Amino acid sequence: MLDNIQIVMVNTTHSGNIGAAARAMKNMGLSRLVLVDPKADINEEAIQRSSRAEDILHQAVITDTLEEAIADCGFVVGTSARSRNIPWPLLNPRECATKVAQAAGQNSRIALVFGRESSGLTNEELHLCHAHVHIPTDENFSSLNVSQAIQVMCYEMRLAAISEGGDQSSADHPIWGVDWDYELASHAELNGMLQHMEQTMVDIGFLDPNTPKQTMARMRRLYQRAGMDKMEINIMRGMFSAVQRQQASLKTAESAEQDGDSH
Ligand code: SAH
Repeated sequence: MLDNIQIVMVNTTHSGNIGAAARAMKNMGLSRLVLVDPKADINEEAIQRSSRAEDILHQAVITDTLEEAIADCGFVVGTSARSRNIPWPLLNPRECATKVAQAAGQNSRIALVFGRESSGLTNEELHLCHAHVHIPTDENFSSLNVSQAIQVMCYEMRLAAISEGGDQSSADHPIWGVDWDYELASHAELNGMLQHMEQTMVDIGFLDPNTPKQTMARMRRLYQRAGMDKMEINIMRGMFSAVQRQQASLKTAESAEQDGDSH
């Protein structure tokens, strides 16, 4: 289970926090660190703060965007010190660890996403996550240092991995109560489907691209909540293509009719 999890840090501004995160991870048996457009270097301070977890720093993957960092993940969790605009599935760290174990049992990659020291994650970034996790802190002082938040989350992941005997037992408690026939869709596959859906909605005149409101955020929330598998994505996309073809042939027929009228 622990090998399936990647810790994603977005726009981190302090080298020391990257080092401390690596140490927190290694203590708990995690090793995949992804830095999204870091604003700090992996310098001497980072190495010192990592104690002897330098290997994690050297192996860290750097990406330009969060989308890129989570593209192949089937379960993505965003951590936040405070609640945001539209309600989103919210877990505590322990509930999150149970879901992570189930997703790992389905061979999925999992991303735990952590925000900027100054401002956390944006609403748009949080919407890319299947669920949010709030570490239950004192309401009047809710914001942890990012590396300490990573420590708490990695500890819960470890507890879930060892208390149930690791990989084997999560496979014994599959996500929907039975062994599933297809793998969970990756973030990139779900994104592809949502873009296809949005285009179809525009094509049929259901969605006005100039005033989209929160429609697509709500659709994303719906399909992320469903935990779609790869086959379900294919079926939906097949249906959208059929709708688009139908729409295109209606338009062609309509314009042929108009041309006919004008002669
Ligand atoms: N001032 C920011 C807090 C940033 S703390 C804000 O109000 O959003 C930096 C990061 O640490 C957060 O983005 C989150 O990933 C993590 N973090 C801090 N406190 C947390 C908490 N109580 N629960 C979950 N994550 C937390």
